[in-house]
Amino acid sequence: MSSSLDHSPRPTGFDRFGLHPSLVRGIQALGFETPRPIQAEAIPAGLEGRDVLGLAQTGTGKTAAFALPLLQRILDTKRRGPQALVLAPTRELANQIDAEIRELARYTDIETATIFGGVSQYNQIRALRRRPEIIVGCPGRVLDLLKQRELNLSEVEMLVLDEADHMFDMGFLPDVRRILAALPMKRQNLLFSATMPREIRQLADDLQRDPHVVELASSAPAETIDHALYAVKEDLKRDLLDVVLGAEGCESAIVFTRTKHRAKRLAEQLSRKGLRAVALQGNMSQGQRDRAMRGFREGRFDILVATDIAARGIDVSDISHVINYDVPNTPEAYTHRIGRTGRSEREGTALTFVTRADSGWLRATERMIGTPITRCVAEGFGNEPVDGPDLGSPRSNGRQGRNGGGNRGRSGARDGGASRRPGSAGRSGRGRRARSRAR
Ligand code: AMP
Repeated sequence: MSSSLDHSPRPTGFDRFGLHPSLVRGIQALGFETPRPIQAEAIPAGLEGRDVLGLAQTGTGKTAAFALPLLQRILDTKRRGPQALVLAPTRELANQIDAEIRELARYTDIETATIFGGVSQYNQIRALRRRPEIIVGCPGRVLDLLKQRELNLSEVEMLVLDEADHMFDMGFLPDVRRILAALPMKRQNLLFSATMPREIRQLADDLQRDPHVVELASSAPAETIDHALYAVKEDLKRDLLDVVLGAEGCESAIVFTRTKHRAKRLAEQLSRKGLRAVALQGNMSQGQRDRAMRGFREGRFDILVATDIAARGIDVSDISHVINYDVPNTPEAYTHRIGRTGRSEREGTALTFVTRADSGWLRATERMIGTPITRCVAEGFGNEPVDGPDLGSPRSNGRQGRNGGGNRGRSGARDGGASRRPGSAGRSGRGRRARSRAR
Protein backbone atom coordinates (compact mmCIF):
# COMPACT_ATOMS: atom_id res chain seq x y z
CA MET A 1 0.00 0.00 0.00
CA SER A 2 2.58 2.49 1.06
CA SER A 3 4.62 1.95 -2.08
CA SER A 4 1.66 2.82 -4.29
CA LEU A 5 1.26 5.99 -2.22
CA ASP A 6 4.90 6.80 -2.80
CA HIS A 7 4.32 6.81 -6.51
CA SER A 8 1.29 9.05 -6.46
CA PRO A 9 1.85 12.66 -7.49
CA ARG A 10 3.08 15.09 -4.86
CA PRO A 11 0.01 16.83 -3.42
CA THR A 12 -0.63 20.27 -4.81
CA GLY A 13 -3.34 22.78 -4.20
CA PHE A 14 -4.87 21.45 -7.41
CA ASP A 15 -5.67 18.14 -5.71
CA ARG A 16 -8.98 19.49 -4.55
CA PHE A 17 -10.40 19.25 -8.07
CA GLY A 18 -10.07 15.48 -8.43
CA LEU A 19 -8.19 15.80 -11.72
CA HIS A 20 -6.63 12.85 -13.54
CA PRO A 21 -3.14 12.08 -12.20
CA SER A 22 -1.72 12.76 -15.67
CA LEU A 23 -3.08 16.30 -15.51
CA VAL A 24 -1.81 16.81 -11.98
CA ARG A 25 1.64 15.84 -13.26
CA GLY A 26 1.32 18.37 -16.05
CA ILE A 27 0.35 21.06 -13.55
CA GLN A 28 3.36 20.19 -11.42
CA ALA A 29 5.67 20.24 -14.42
CA LEU A 30 4.49 23.78 -15.10
CA GLY A 31 5.33 24.67 -11.50
CA PHE A 32 1.79 25.67 -10.54
CA GLU A 33 1.33 25.07 -6.83
CA THR A 34 -1.78 26.90 -5.81
CA PRO A 35 -4.79 27.55 -8.01
CA ARG A 36 -5.25 31.17 -8.91
CA PRO A 37 -8.59 32.70 -7.82
CA ILE A 38 -10.10 32.31 -11.27
CA GLN A 39 -9.03 28.66 -11.34
CA ALA A 40 -10.44 27.98 -7.87
CA GLU A 41 -13.76 29.43 -9.05
CA ALA A 42 -14.03 28.24 -12.62
CA ILE A 43 -12.53 24.74 -12.59
CA PRO A 44 -15.18 23.06 -10.38
CA ALA A 45 -18.02 24.57 -12.44
CA GLY A 46 -16.24 23.63 -15.67
CA LEU A 47 -15.77 20.06 -14.47
CA GLU A 48 -19.47 19.79 -13.69
CA GLY A 49 -20.15 20.69 -17.31
CA ARG A 50 -21.64 24.06 -16.44
CA ASP A 51 -21.34 27.13 -18.63
CA VAL A 52 -18.86 29.64 -17.24
CA LEU A 53 -18.76 33.39 -17.75
CA GLY A 54 -15.37 34.66 -16.63
CA LEU A 55 -14.75 38.38 -16.31
CA ALA A 56 -11.01 38.36 -16.22
CA GLN A 57 -8.11 39.59 -18.21
CA THR A 58 -5.05 37.80 -19.50
CA GLY A 59 -2.52 37.22 -16.78
CA THR A 60 -5.02 35.97 -14.23
CA GLY A 61 -4.51 32.29 -15.06
CA LYS A 62 -7.68 31.93 -17.09
CA THR A 63 -6.12 29.60 -19.68
CA ALA A 64 -5.66 26.79 -17.18
CA ALA A 65 -9.05 27.68 -15.69
CA PHE A 66 -10.74 26.58 -18.90
CA ALA A 67 -8.12 24.13 -20.21
CA LEU A 68 -8.16 21.79 -17.23
CA PRO A 69 -11.91 21.08 -17.37
CA LEU A 70 -11.62 20.53 -21.15
CA LEU A 71 -8.75 18.09 -20.73
CA GLN A 72 -10.40 16.22 -17.89
CA ARG A 73 -13.61 15.80 -19.81
CA ILE A 74 -11.77 14.60 -22.90
CA LEU A 75 -9.87 12.05 -20.80
CA ASP A 76 -13.21 10.89 -19.38
CA THR A 77 -14.82 10.36 -22.79
CA LYS A 78 -11.84 8.47 -24.25
CA ARG A 79 -13.01 9.57 -27.71
CA ARG A 80 -10.75 10.82 -30.46
CA GLY A 81 -11.35 13.74 -32.79
CA PRO A 82 -12.34 17.38 -32.16
CA GLN A 83 -14.28 17.72 -28.93
CA ALA A 84 -13.26 21.19 -27.85
CA LEU A 85 -12.95 24.42 -29.82
CA VAL A 86 -11.17 27.44 -28.37
CA LEU A 87 -11.62 30.71 -30.25
CA ALA A 88 -9.23 33.60 -29.63
CA PRO A 89 -8.92 37.00 -31.34
CA THR A 90 -5.23 36.94 -32.28
CA ARG A 91 -2.79 34.34 -33.41
CA GLU A 92 -0.44 35.30 -30.57
CA LEU A 93 -3.13 34.45 -28.08
CA ALA A 94 -4.06 31.27 -29.96
CA ASN A 95 -0.42 30.17 -29.85
CA GLN A 96 -0.13 31.03 -26.18
CA ILE A 97 -3.26 29.07 -25.32
CA ASP A 98 -2.14 26.13 -27.41
CA ALA A 99 1.27 26.09 -25.73
CA GLU A 100 -0.24 26.05 -22.26
CA ILE A 101 -2.73 23.32 -23.14
CA ARG A 102 0.07 21.20 -24.57
CA GLU A 103 2.07 21.66 -21.38
CA LEU A 104 -0.85 20.69 -19.19
CA ALA A 105 -1.60 17.71 -21.44
CA ARG A 106 1.99 16.54 -21.85
CA TYR A 107 1.39 13.33 -19.85
CA THR A 108 -1.75 12.47 -21.81
CA ASP A 109 -2.22 11.51 -25.46
CA ILE A 110 -4.53 14.44 -26.14
CA GLU A 111 -3.58 16.38 -29.25
CA THR A 112 -4.21 19.96 -30.25
CA ALA A 113 -4.08 21.97 -33.47
CA THR A 114 -3.88 25.73 -33.94
CA ILE A 115 -5.46 27.41 -36.91
CA PHE A 116 -5.19 31.06 -37.82
CA GLY A 117 -4.79 33.22 -40.91
CA GLY A 118 -1.73 34.92 -42.34
CA VAL A 119 0.12 31.65 -42.90
CA SER A 120 -0.33 28.76 -45.31
CA GLN A 121 -3.23 26.41 -44.62
CA TYR A 122 -1.16 23.41 -45.56
CA ASN A 123 0.29 22.47 -42.17
CA GLN A 124 -2.94 23.34 -40.41
CA ILE A 125 -4.93 21.00 -42.67
CA ARG A 126 -2.38 18.26 -42.07
CA ALA A 127 -2.70 18.78 -38.33
CA LEU A 128 -6.50 18.60 -38.60
CA ARG A 129 -6.31 15.31 -40.47
CA ARG A 130 -4.72 13.78 -37.39
CA ARG A 131 -8.07 14.41 -35.67
CA PRO A 132 -6.84 16.39 -32.66
CA GLU A 133 -9.16 16.57 -29.66
CA ILE A 134 -8.70 20.31 -29.13
CA ILE A 135 -8.68 23.01 -31.78
CA VAL A 136 -7.46 26.48 -30.91
CA GLY A 137 -8.05 29.06 -33.59
CA CYS A 138 -8.95 32.53 -34.73
CA PRO A 139 -12.44 32.97 -36.17
CA GLY A 140 -11.51 33.88 -39.77
CA ARG A 141 -9.42 30.81 -40.58
CA VAL A 142 -11.70 28.51 -38.60
CA LEU A 143 -14.56 29.67 -40.77
CA ASP A 144 -12.52 29.26 -43.97
CA LEU A 145 -11.59 25.70 -43.11
CA LEU A 146 -15.15 24.91 -42.13
CA LYS A 147 -16.34 26.13 -45.53
CA GLN A 148 -13.70 24.03 -47.24
CA ARG A 149 -14.86 21.03 -45.19
CA GLU A 150 -11.37 20.55 -43.84
CA LEU A 151 -12.73 21.13 -40.39
CA ASN A 152 -15.59 19.18 -38.91
CA LEU A 153 -16.96 20.55 -35.67
CA SER A 154 -20.02 18.33 -35.47
CA GLU A 155 -18.68 16.46 -32.43
CA VAL A 156 -17.57 19.51 -30.45
CA GLU A 157 -19.03 19.45 -26.95
CA MET A 158 -17.06 22.27 -25.42
CA LEU A 159 -16.59 25.79 -26.72
CA VAL A 160 -14.33 28.47 -25.27
CA LEU A 161 -14.49 32.09 -26.38
CA ASP A 162 -11.42 33.80 -25.03
CA GLU A 163 -10.98 37.58 -24.88
CA ALA A 164 -14.47 37.89 -26.26
CA ASP A 165 -14.39 41.68 -25.95
CA HIS A 166 -11.35 41.85 -28.21
CA MET A 167 -13.04 39.57 -30.72
CA PHE A 168 -15.86 42.06 -30.77
CA ASP A 169 -13.50 45.07 -31.05
CA MET A 170 -11.79 43.40 -33.99
CA GLY A 171 -15.06 42.80 -35.79
CA PHE A 172 -15.07 39.01 -35.40
CA LEU A 173 -18.52 38.58 -33.91
CA PRO A 174 -20.28 37.81 -37.22
CA ASP A 175 -17.69 35.08 -37.93
CA VAL A 176 -18.06 33.75 -34.40
CA ARG A 177 -21.80 33.50 -34.83
CA ARG A 178 -21.36 31.62 -38.11
CA ILE A 179 -19.03 29.18 -36.42
CA LEU A 180 -21.52 28.67 -33.59
CA ALA A 181 -24.06 27.59 -36.18
CA ALA A 182 -21.75 24.71 -37.16
CA LEU A 183 -21.55 23.36 -33.61
CA PRO A 184 -23.92 20.89 -31.99
CA MET A 185 -26.60 22.63 -29.96
CA LYS A 186 -25.82 20.62 -26.87
CA ARG A 187 -22.48 21.73 -25.57
CA GLN A 188 -20.71 23.51 -22.76
CA ASN A 189 -19.86 27.19 -23.32
CA LEU A 190 -17.06 28.96 -21.51
CA LEU A 191 -16.75 32.67 -22.22
CA PHE A 192 -13.96 34.91 -20.94
CA SER A 193 -13.81 38.64 -21.33
CA ALA A 194 -12.06 41.45 -19.48
CA THR A 195 -14.96 43.80 -20.09
CA MET A 196 -18.62 43.36 -20.90
CA PRO A 197 -19.71 45.57 -23.77
CA ARG A 198 -23.36 45.19 -24.61
CA GLU A 199 -22.64 42.92 -27.61
CA ILE A 200 -20.70 40.47 -25.49
CA ARG A 201 -23.39 40.42 -22.86
CA GLN A 202 -25.87 39.67 -25.63
CA LEU A 203 -23.64 36.92 -26.97
CA ALA A 204 -23.30 35.43 -23.50
CA ASP A 205 -27.07 35.55 -23.04
CA ASP A 206 -27.60 33.81 -26.38
CA LEU A 207 -24.95 31.18 -25.71
CA GLN A 208 -25.14 30.33 -22.09
CA ARG A 209 -27.68 28.84 -19.80
CA ASP A 210 -27.40 29.74 -16.12
CA PRO A 211 -23.64 30.26 -16.32
CA HIS A 212 -21.38 30.20 -13.33
CA VAL A 213 -20.13 33.79 -13.23
CA VAL A 214 -16.61 34.52 -12.05
CA GLU A 215 -15.74 38.17 -11.74
CA LEU A 216 -12.21 39.04 -10.77
CA ALA A 217 -10.75 42.30 -9.71
CA SER A 218 -7.39 42.27 -11.35
CA SER A 219 -4.86 43.22 -8.72
CA ALA A 220 -3.50 46.10 -10.75
CA PRO A 221 -5.49 48.68 -12.66
CA ALA A 222 -5.20 48.65 -16.44
CA GLU A 223 -2.31 50.66 -17.83
CA THR A 224 -4.67 52.88 -19.79
CA ILE A 225 -6.04 54.28 -16.54
CA ASP A 226 -4.34 57.32 -15.10
CA HIS A 227 -5.32 57.22 -11.44
CA ALA A 228 -4.59 59.62 -8.65
CA LEU A 229 -5.98 60.82 -5.37
CA TYR A 230 -6.84 64.08 -3.71
CA ALA A 231 -6.44 64.34 0.02
CA VAL A 232 -9.39 66.45 1.05
CA LYS A 233 -11.48 67.30 4.06
CA GLU A 234 -14.95 65.77 4.02
CA ASP A 235 -16.67 69.14 3.94
CA LEU A 236 -14.66 70.29 0.92
CA LYS A 237 -15.48 67.27 -1.26
CA ARG A 238 -18.44 69.02 -2.90
CA ASP A 239 -16.33 71.99 -3.97
CA LEU A 240 -13.52 69.77 -5.14
CA LEU A 241 -15.95 67.78 -7.23
CA ASP A 242 -16.98 70.97 -9.04
CA VAL A 243 -13.35 71.65 -9.85
CA VAL A 244 -12.71 68.14 -11.13
CA LEU A 245 -15.89 67.96 -13.19
CA GLY A 246 -15.16 71.33 -14.70
CA ALA A 247 -11.61 70.46 -15.68
CA GLU A 248 -10.38 70.03 -19.22
CA GLY A 249 -10.99 66.58 -20.59
CA CYS A 250 -13.74 65.61 -18.17
CA GLU A 251 -16.31 64.60 -20.74
CA SER A 252 -18.26 61.95 -18.92
CA ALA A 253 -17.92 60.71 -15.39
CA ILE A 254 -19.16 58.12 -13.00
CA VAL A 255 -19.08 59.49 -9.48
CA PHE A 256 -19.18 56.81 -6.81
CA THR A 257 -20.67 57.45 -3.39
CA ARG A 258 -20.82 55.27 -0.33
CA THR A 259 -24.59 55.26 0.15
CA LYS A 260 -27.75 55.41 -1.94
CA HIS A 261 -28.80 58.52 -0.11
CA ARG A 262 -25.53 60.32 -0.90
CA ALA A 263 -25.84 59.32 -4.56
CA LYS A 264 -29.36 60.69 -4.79
CA ARG A 265 -28.53 63.93 -2.99
CA LEU A 266 -25.34 64.57 -4.93
CA ALA A 267 -27.04 63.98 -8.30
CA GLU A 268 -29.77 66.43 -7.29
CA GLN A 269 -27.22 69.03 -6.21
CA LEU A 270 -25.28 68.72 -9.46
CA SER A 271 -28.48 68.93 -11.52
CA ARG A 272 -29.51 72.08 -9.66
CA LYS A 273 -26.21 73.61 -10.70
CA GLY A 274 -27.12 72.93 -14.30
CA LEU A 275 -24.94 69.87 -14.81
CA ARG A 276 -26.42 66.95 -16.67
CA ALA A 277 -26.24 64.49 -13.80
CA VAL A 278 -28.37 61.51 -12.89
CA ALA A 279 -28.29 59.06 -9.98
CA LEU A 280 -28.10 55.28 -10.23
CA GLN A 281 -28.81 53.74 -6.88
CA GLY A 282 -30.64 50.84 -5.37
CA ASN A 283 -33.70 52.75 -4.18
CA MET A 284 -34.68 53.50 -7.76
CA SER A 285 -37.15 51.28 -9.62
CA GLN A 286 -35.83 49.13 -12.46
CA GLY A 287 -37.51 51.48 -14.93
CA GLN A 288 -35.81 54.52 -13.39
CA ARG A 289 -32.47 52.76 -13.44
CA ASP A 290 -32.88 51.74 -17.06
CA ARG A 291 -33.78 55.31 -17.99
CA ALA A 292 -30.76 56.67 -16.12
CA MET A 293 -28.41 54.18 -17.78
CA ARG A 294 -29.85 54.77 -21.22
CA GLY A 295 -29.60 58.54 -20.76
CA PHE A 296 -25.98 58.25 -19.70
CA ARG A 297 -25.07 55.83 -22.44
CA GLU A 298 -26.70 57.94 -25.10
CA GLY A 299 -25.03 61.14 -23.87
CA ARG A 300 -28.07 62.91 -22.42
CA PHE A 301 -26.32 62.86 -19.07
CA ASP A 302 -22.62 63.53 -18.57
CA ILE A 303 -22.45 62.43 -14.97
CA LEU A 304 -23.74 59.26 -13.37
CA VAL A 305 -23.69 59.32 -9.58
CA ALA A 306 -23.76 55.72 -8.49
CA THR A 307 -23.31 53.29 -5.65
CA ASP A 308 -21.16 50.20 -6.15
CA ILE A 309 -24.00 47.76 -6.27
CA ALA A 310 -26.10 49.74 -8.72
CA ALA A 311 -23.09 50.21 -10.99
CA ARG A 312 -22.12 46.54 -11.16
CA GLY A 313 -21.56 45.41 -14.70
CA ILE A 314 -21.95 48.88 -16.20
CA ASP A 315 -20.73 48.53 -19.74
CA VAL A 316 -20.49 52.06 -21.09
CA SER A 317 -17.37 52.17 -23.17
CA ASP A 318 -16.12 55.72 -23.15
CA ILE A 319 -16.30 57.10 -19.67
CA SER A 320 -13.50 59.66 -19.37
CA HIS A 321 -13.47 59.87 -15.57
CA VAL A 322 -14.25 57.70 -12.61
CA ILE A 323 -14.44 59.79 -9.46
CA ASN A 324 -14.47 58.09 -6.10
CA TYR A 325 -16.26 60.77 -4.12
CA ASP A 326 -16.18 58.29 -1.27
CA VAL A 327 -13.58 55.53 -1.21
CA PRO A 328 -14.94 52.03 -1.86
CA ASN A 329 -15.33 49.52 0.95
CA THR A 330 -12.44 47.30 -0.09
CA PRO A 331 -9.21 47.59 -2.05
CA GLU A 332 -10.59 45.12 -4.62
CA ALA A 333 -13.59 47.35 -5.26
CA TYR A 334 -11.11 50.09 -6.19
CA THR A 335 -9.88 48.24 -9.28
CA HIS A 336 -13.47 47.27 -10.14
CA ARG A 337 -14.61 50.88 -9.94
CA ILE A 338 -11.74 52.47 -11.79
CA GLY A 339 -11.94 49.73 -14.42
CA ARG A 340 -15.13 51.44 -15.58
CA THR A 341 -12.88 53.85 -17.44
CA GLY A 342 -9.86 53.17 -19.64
CA ARG A 343 -11.67 50.31 -21.35
CA SER A 344 -10.66 48.61 -24.56
CA GLU A 345 -7.29 50.38 -24.72
CA ARG A 346 -8.88 53.81 -24.37
CA GLU A 347 -7.40 56.28 -21.94
CA GLY A 348 -9.26 57.08 -18.75
CA THR A 349 -8.76 59.00 -15.54
CA ALA A 350 -9.73 57.84 -12.08
CA LEU A 351 -9.63 60.26 -9.16
CA THR A 352 -10.23 59.34 -5.55
CA PHE A 353 -11.14 61.74 -2.76
CA VAL A 354 -9.43 60.55 0.38
CA THR A 355 -10.03 61.91 3.86
CA ARG A 356 -8.02 61.31 6.97
CA ALA A 357 -10.51 58.61 7.98
CA ASP A 358 -9.62 56.64 4.83
CA SER A 359 -5.95 56.16 5.64
CA GLY A 360 -6.33 52.44 6.47
CA TRP A 361 -8.14 51.81 3.20
CA LEU A 362 -5.48 53.72 1.30
CA ARG A 363 -2.64 51.74 2.79
CA ALA A 364 -4.38 48.43 2.01
CA THR A 365 -5.16 49.51 -1.54
CA GLU A 366 -1.65 50.66 -2.30
CA ARG A 367 -0.36 47.39 -0.91
CA MET A 368 -2.72 45.44 -3.16
CA ILE A 369 -1.91 47.30 -6.36
CA GLY A 370 1.75 47.34 -5.48
CA THR A 371 2.44 51.05 -6.02
CA PRO A 372 1.61 54.32 -4.32
CA ILE A 373 -1.24 56.25 -5.93
CA THR A 374 -0.21 59.64 -7.28
CA ARG A 375 -1.21 62.57 -5.07
CA CYS A 376 -2.86 65.49 -6.82
CA VAL A 377 -3.23 69.04 -5.65
CA ALA A 378 -6.29 71.16 -6.34
CA GLU A 379 -5.63 74.86 -6.26
CA GLY A 380 -7.39 76.48 -3.36
CA PHE A 381 -8.07 73.39 -1.28
CA GLY A 382 -6.65 72.63 2.10
CA ASN A 383 -5.30 69.30 1.06
CA GLU A 384 -5.76 67.30 4.16
CA PRO A 385 -2.81 65.09 5.05
CA VAL A 386 -4.41 61.67 4.87
CA ASP A 387 -2.37 60.02 7.51
CA GLY A 388 0.49 62.22 8.38
CA PRO A 389 4.11 61.37 7.79
CA ASP A 390 3.45 57.77 6.84
CA LEU A 391 1.97 58.48 3.46
CA GLY A 392 3.18 61.91 2.62
CA SER A 393 0.76 64.55 1.54
CA PRO A 394 0.79 67.05 -1.24
CA ARG A 395 1.58 70.69 -0.77
CA SER A 396 -1.50 72.73 -0.13
CA ASN A 397 -2.15 75.78 -2.18
CA GLY A 398 -4.02 78.83 -1.06
CA ARG A 399 -7.11 78.10 0.93
CA GLN A 400 -6.48 76.00 4.00
CA GLY A 401 -8.82 73.73 5.83
CA ARG A 402 -9.02 73.79 9.59
CA ASN A 403 -6.09 71.44 9.77
CA GLY A 404 -4.46 73.17 6.86
CA GLY A 405 -0.77 73.42 6.26
CA GLY A 406 -0.83 70.19 4.27
CA ASN A 407 2.93 70.19 4.06
CA ARG A 408 3.29 68.11 7.07
CA GLY A 409 3.91 64.83 5.32
CA ARG A 410 6.90 63.85 3.26
CA SER A 411 5.58 65.67 0.32
CA GLY A 412 8.52 65.00 -1.92
CA ALA A 413 9.13 61.35 -1.39
CA ARG A 414 6.17 59.54 -2.82
CA ASP A 415 4.05 62.03 -4.60
CA GLY A 416 5.92 62.24 -7.82
CA GLY A 417 2.87 63.60 -9.59
CA ALA A 418 1.70 65.60 -6.63
CA SER A 419 1.78 68.88 -8.38
CA ARG A 420 -0.52 67.69 -11.14
CA ARG A 421 -3.57 69.85 -11.31
CA PRO A 422 -7.00 68.91 -12.46
CA GLY A 423 -7.03 71.39 -15.31
CA SER A 424 -8.74 74.72 -15.60
CA ALA A 425 -10.15 74.77 -12.12
CA GLY A 426 -13.61 76.10 -11.72
CA ARG A 427 -14.54 75.98 -15.39
CA SER A 428 -18.17 75.17 -15.67
CA GLY A 429 -19.02 71.72 -16.86
CA ARG A 430 -22.19 73.09 -18.37
CA GLY A 431 -22.86 72.84 -22.03
CA ARG A 432 -20.52 69.97 -22.75
CA ARG A 433 -21.18 68.71 -26.20
CA ALA A 434 -23.75 66.02 -26.52
CA ARG A 435 -22.31 62.74 -27.54
CA SER A 436 -23.49 59.24 -27.98
CA ARG A 437 -21.83 56.62 -25.89
CA ALA A 438 -23.86 53.77 -27.22
CA ARG A 439 -21.82 50.94 -28.63
P1 AMP B 1 -3.08 33.38 -18.36
O1 AMP B 1 -3.95 34.43 -17.71
O2 AMP B 1 -3.78 32.12 -18.54
O3 AMP B 1 -2.43 33.90 -19.61
O4 AMP B 1 -1.90 33.02 -17.31
C1 AMP B 1 -0.89 33.94 -16.96
C2 AMP B 1 0.37 33.23 -16.52
O5 AMP B 1 0.22 32.63 -15.25
C3 AMP B 1 0.82 32.11 -17.46
O6 AMP B 1 2.20 32.25 -17.65
C4 AMP B 1 0.50 30.85 -16.69
O7 AMP B 1 1.39 29.82 -17.04
C5 AMP B 1 0.68 31.28 -15.25
N1 AMP B 1 -0.16 30.55 -14.30
C6 AMP B 1 -1.45 30.18 -14.49
N2 AMP B 1 -1.92 29.55 -13.40
C7 AMP B 1 -0.94 29.52 -12.49
C8 AMP B 1 -0.83 29.02 -11.16
N3 AMP B 1 -1.86 28.42 -10.54
N4 AMP B 1 0.35 29.16 -10.53
C9 AMP B 1 1.39 29.78 -11.14
N5 AMP B 1 1.35 30.28 -12.39
C10 AMP B 1 0.20 30.17 -13.06
